[in-house]
Amino acid sequence: MPSTQDTELTTPAALLPTARERIADLDLAAKAALTTGASFWFTTSDDAAGIPAVMLTDGPHGIRKQIGDGDALGLNNSVVAICFPPAVAMASSFDAGLIARVGDALGAQCVAESIGVLLGPGINIKRSLLGGRNFEYMSEDPYLTGRLAASLVAAVQAHGVGTSLKHFAANNQETERLRVSADIDPRPLHEIYLRAFEHVVRTAAPWTIMASYNKINGEYATQSRWLLTETLRDRWGFDGLVVSDWAAVDDRVAALAAGLDLEMPANPASPAAVVRAVEAGQVPYDALDDAAARVAALGLAASANARSGADYDRASHHALAREVAARCAVLLRNDGAVLPLTSGTRVAVIGEFARTPRFQGGGSSKVNPFQVDAALDAIVEYADGPVTFAPGFVIGETASTPELIDEAATQAGAADVAVVFVGLGERDESEGFDRTGWTLPAAQIELLDAVTAANPRTVVVVSNGSVVDLAPTENAAAVVEAWLLGEASGAALADVLYGLVDPSGRLAETIPLRIEDSPAFLDFPGEHLHVRYGEGVFVGYRWYDARNLPVRYPFGHGLSYTTMTFDHVAASLTDDGIAVDVRVTNTGSRTGRAVVQVYVGVERSAVARAPRELKGIETLELAAGASMSVRIDVPRSELAYWNRDVDDWFVEDADYRVDVGSSSRDIKASSVIHVDGDAADTAIGLGSTILEVLDHPVIGPRLGEMFGALSGDGTAPDPTLLELAGSFPIGRVAPILGMTREQMSELLQG
Ligand code: BGC
Repeated sequence: MPSTQDTELTTPAALLPTARERIADLDLAAKAALTTGASFWFTTSDDAAGIPAVMLTDGPHGIRKQIGDGDALGLNNSVVAICFPPAVAMASSFDAGLIARVGDALGAQCVAESIGVLLGPGINIKRSLLGGRNFEYMSEDPYLTGRLAASLVAAVQAHGVGTSLKHFAANNQETERLRVSADIDPRPLHEIYLRAFEHVVRTAAPWTIMASYNKINGEYATQSRWLLTETLRDRWGFDGLVVSDWAAVDDRVAALAAGLDLEMPANPASPAAVVRAVEAGQVPYDALDDAAARVAALGLAASANARSGADYDRASHHALAREVAARCAVLLRNDGAVLPLTSGTRVAVIGEFARTPRFQGGGSSKVNPFQVDAALDAIVEYADGPVTFAPGFVIGETASTPELIDEAATQAGAADVAVVFVGLGERDESEGFDRTGWTLPAAQIELLDAVTAANPRTVVVVSNGSVVDLAPTENAAAVVEAWLLGEASGAALADVLYGLVDPSGRLAETIPLRIEDSPAFLDFPGEHLHVRYGEGVFVGYRWYDARNLPVRYPFGHGLSYTTMTFDHVAASLTDDGIAVDVRVTNTGSRTGRAVVQVYVGVERSAVARAPRELKGIETLELAAGASMSVRIDVPRSELAYWNRDVDDWFVEDADYRVDVGSSSRDIKASSVIHVDGDAADTAIGLGSTILEVLDHPVIGPRLGEMFGALSGDGTAPDPTLLELAGSFPIGRVAPILGMTREQMSELLQG
């Protein structure tokens, strides 16, 4: 990891003992003051104790440092910064190494701008394709999200600045985001909605984590001791600071008691309320002491790592933004190899987005870009032949303009290839509201119909932060899902269209055929301030696969200009899980990137599971004809499901099927391997069923004899009896065996 500092960097965790000493002599009021912000973006300092303030700044696909009046909604402009692809696109790279390079650049920028904490990454799981902030989140899959986010966090923090993993937790919609309760069963909560957070906390130690606005099962995340202390700190070992989302705290005293260290932004009423509560014994003194010490440690670490005069090279960071963007575009189809375009081809460039790119979403993550590249300019540069342009539609207008469509169709008909740039406008998706539909604006659908009718060699490039219905692209020869690619979007797309970069993006979320098929369709965005996560663990491809629903493009899908084969797949046991060996061969005629995806399914699981879940990724570049063997480790922890009986992760004793493929629906080879499970709790009691007791190695045979005497051959019970009554709790049938409950209880104790 490149880093620019010459002195040793430190962390808040390392400085916590010093912070405790510094605040030891402060009175209650001074300690309470530390636990609430001083302003919109700064923490409170304490000069007497030598505690500096820290600046927290939005991101995370660029920095949004506001120097004037603050606002959390992206309304006021911020300093000029490099706008990298937002999370929706970055996740499509499937490449943790690439994302680390973005994190490295962001870290350097934070140092140059004197920022102590970058408020991201956002890693909520995309439960519904209508989620308003889907563009800020990575995926429908927790494994992919966790791996990529951990990489980003580690890379930013290598510069001695902090990150804030957000929004913790289950903040999967914008509708009523400050009041809604996400009602979720334990398995989906742990397996889907907390899993990526858990991975990042355990492996990348984010300096801070941001408690979300919503409630979880009726309790505010900011006030949930179960979430902020028992799960985050006690189970996962988090040693950083918990900050609230901006104005997420409803009751400062309850939040402090739950484990929320820092309330943001400033709230002048809070310190006094905290002092009163501590004096009244409502909150333990230690809770305040811990929170104040963590805020102090954050300030000490940020200031110890600060370097005055640091700067970064905007041009080279822009070049990185372009390289990354090109790696994130997903080539969904390419009939007749219409792509890559060759120079000399007569191209009709169509669609206002070619000239006015849509490259990021609205709200608190909105970056004031350094340099915006338009695809039209880059295409003109590469084309080396005639290029025409027709806007085709007006951004933000749903109704079509017939003249614009006619002009576009005429130009398409006269060209060798038409490249149409469509997508959603900035007002169609943003923080603050969810979408109510998933279609492209009607004017653009009409345009697509007219252009594809005029020229079947049409390439459609879609710019959107959340999934749209791609039915209107069905008559096009090629489709590029560009998501939102950041400020270098246009140039990067030209790189892909002309084959300077082999497309290697893969879908981090399923594109269904019908919105009605999507998992949360009937349970989003809820009613009466409750949203029931009725689809359980079956989120994203887990749902479509379990229900065997056809989709337009599956999770993990993405084409390249070359072809890769995966073979010689072998799974073997390791000390910590499974190792999967795969041989990857580039069988095409160009250099390209393979994205090897390892999915795992459990044969005959005791719980309802998806047919397969992503558990391993490897990306590698291969020259034409080259072959390489790779080993992908699947840690044992990834095989576990959340067992609500033991309230913990649990690995089943079972045969695990390892599927290696180029998408969740394109499995090239499989291998089955047995994994010994975790020791099951064999304790039995009056509530255990007859079948469970019969399974017990010691008590089972004794009970078998008793039932056998009642109905059976004297040694074992009649099978029909077991079919009918095997599920009865043993305590209930004690009288039938002529015993009291107490006698049965004694028998069960052996
Ligand atoms: C958003 C956060 C953001 C914060 C500060 C909130 O409205 O939910 O993601 O970091 O504002 O701008």
